[in-house]
Amino acid sequence: MNTCNSLKELILTDYLDGETNLAIRQQINDHLSACSDCRLFAQDVKQKLVVPFEKAPQETVPEHVWSSIKEQIEKETSVEVESESLLSKVVQFFTIPHLVPVMGSLVIVLVVSVLFFKKHQLQQVKVREQVEYLAYLLESSVTMKESDRNVLKTPIEQYFL
Ligand SMILES: [Zn+2]
Repeated sequence: MNTCNSLKELILTDYLDGETNLAIRQQINDHLSACSDCRLFAQDVKQKLVVPFEKAPQETVPEHVWSSIKEQIEKETSVEVESESLLSKVVQFFTIPHLVPVMGSLVIVLVVSVLFFKKHQLQQVKVREQVEYLAYLLESSVTMKESDRNVLKTPIEQYFL
């Protein structure tokens, strides 16, 4: 049987952690019901060491996890804020009242120049096609003439020429 001191030591360690096996726990409980001194000690210890932790959350997330989560959130929020502010700046720039006509005319100039450039490109393509077609015609007419000449040549002409 435990003496009061060794029992108090047990109470401070394994008993409060719930690590003691059922037989020992039963012995301690028996002693506590018999010995008021140890009972008061156990109550005191429970009040001071167990109750505060019972109210605390059972599983606490390590601090570095929280800090990294917090960091990540802050980073994402700041990026969002940055992009938001950039977008709003651009929008603001294009919607500054006295700049609207300027921006409008700039857009018109841009559109017109793009259209003109495309038309110009198309014309260039057309000219190139025409030149190629003419070249083809000339080439074919030249070869035709040669072949015609061959066809028109009589054996005598071929002999003399
Ligand atoms: Zn005792």
